[in-house]
Amino acid sequence: MRPTLTVIVDPADRWMSRAACIGQAPAYDETASRWEQTKARELCRSCPVLEECREWARRTKYTGTAAGETLLYGRRRGHPESAAS
Ligand code: SF4
Repeated sequence: MRPTLTVIVDPADRWMSRAACIGQAPAYDETASRWEQTKARELCRSCPVLEECREWARRTKYTGTAAGETLLYGRRRGHPESAAS
């Protein structure tokens, strides 16, 4: 019998279902164009889960655009002192 792939979603991350960026993942990827990243950061400003997203990005050491910032391993690019661990 072949094993099945099971995706386990952390219940603490349910806030993602209220994210303003649902369906727009490519614009938040680190490979997105500067224009796409700028538009992504603008959308973050009106997102109802911005604080949850910021905490998630730091916790997961996310690289890309999240919580209105461009991040590298969960830290704001060019501002290492701004990251809380
Ligand atoms: S803050 Fe930005 S990246 Fe985070 S969930 Fe909201 S829209 Fe998406």
